[in-house]
Amino acid sequence: MCKCARCGRMFSGLAPFDRHQDVDYRRRPPVLCLDPAGLGMVLNRHGRWGCPMDDARRAQLEAMRQAARAGEDCQAARMM
Ligand SMILES: [Zn+2]
Repeated sequence: MCKCARCGRMFSGLAPFDRHQDVDYRRRPPVLCLDPAGLGMVLNRHGRWGCPMDDARRAQLEAMRQAARAGEDCQAARMM
């Protein structure tokens, strides 16, 4: 979990956090906080901003993990 010290928003990870900051050290101030909603991020039920893609990817990983586990069960059954 990342909290932005500049705007006080909370983020589900470093990637969405980085994405909401526009950093250019040739400019003053060098860091600008962008509106996460304008970047396609969503506020999740924990009050953190994140990319909806992250949730989809997590669900996909979980499905793969379950499939792998089911595969192990099948192998165990075959060995018995
Ligand atoms: Zn910020």
